[in-house]
Amino acid sequence: MSGMPLTQETPRVNDTFGRPLRSLRLSVTDRCNLRCKYCMPEEEYTWLPRETLLSFEEMSILTGFFTELGVDKVRLTGGEPLLRKDLPTLMRMLLLNPRITNLALTTNGILLAEQAQAFYDAGLHRVTVSLDTLRPERFKALTRRDTHAKVLEGIDAVARVGFKGLKLDTVAIRGFNDDELVDLIEYGKRVNAEVRFIEYMDVGGATNWSMDKVLSRAAMLQLLSQHYGRIEQIVEDSSAPAQRFLLPDGTTFGIIPSTTTPFCSTCDRSRLTADGMWYLCLYAKDGIDLRQPLRDGASPEAITSLIKSVWQGRRDRGAEERKALERLGLREEKLIEIERLRQDPHLEMHARGG
Ligand code: SAM
Repeated sequence: MSGMPLTQETPRVNDTFGRPLRSLRLSVTDRCNLRCKYCMPEEEYTWLPRETLLSFEEMSILTGFFTELGVDKVRLTGGEPLLRKDLPTLMRMLLLNPRITNLALTTNGILLAEQAQAFYDAGLHRVTVSLDTLRPERFKALTRRDTHAKVLEGIDAVARVGFKGLKLDTVAIRGFNDDELVDLIEYGKRVNAEVRFIEYMDVGGATNWSMDKVLSRAAMLQLLSQHYGRIEQIVEDSSAPAQRFLLPDGTTFGIIPSTTTPFCSTCDRSRLTADGMWYLCLYAKDGIDLRQPLRDGASPEAITSLIKSVWQGRRDRGAEERKALERLGLREEKLIEIERLRQDPHLEMHARGG
């Protein structure tokens, strides 16, 4: 697939802090069919030019270079990935690469009911659906779209077609859904899904972010223990962003505490945008253009060695640097301004896939 022979052993390529290159988030489109206030507060955006978008073949080739260097987890994301036509074709192409042992998808679920069977048949391993509220009117106020029922239909379809290990990702926002944490966990039990609460992050696109809207990991645990009693943290040796917890009845859930307790030290993730820009951190201002060398006919070896040397020089610890601004009282001041986002859509969360 990459055009390079598979070696017996996958080399481990580590960055300057010893973090391996393991996990790639592959954004297939920057378009989205929701306008969540924490991610896409505007109605109109500057979209990536169509001719710059990678074809499925280009995505598979570039992904192949990453897997030669140790990537084995690939997550399809966006924008809303299901807006890209024929996604099962991409899934099949990627899964021809035996180095990909974990192919996952993150979606808002709206188009999932109609596509879940095709994804399952294509061999997709795991699905995560973003679900911030169980209340249709809240969903409408948050997303400015009236499609909550479609999301729930999508979630039902995941188990029906045979997927195991469904995850539901909830951005926990103080004053918005902090009264729904228990309801979401109970809903997760009913649909056989593990719920993961994400702290509201001050990433590009989150122009309405403020610290007082962040429901911290500690606050979430306190709210949940008031209802469930003793909550135990599960000790795991994992680079996954979620810390996992156990309720007295055996139910598990996760918290992704990116804002108050950044986990940069174990971050093995990087992101490829739909137009082939590679970002080493969710907060990085600049990316590395991989589309141009590919389209200019650079050899597989040349592109692989570019990726390798860039990763070896990686020093990014964006979430920790954001956190450090707090002490200076600058965290809210230093959000990326809308004008700057308009000039470079790559800075947006919806372009680099969350
Ligand atoms: N459209 C897909 C979805 O909804 O899952 C994939 C892309 S979306 C950008 C990926 C994830 O990022 C979603 O779970 C979304 O809720 C999350 N997200 C977006 N903005 C965020 C923010 N400011 N803080 C925390 N999570 C955010």
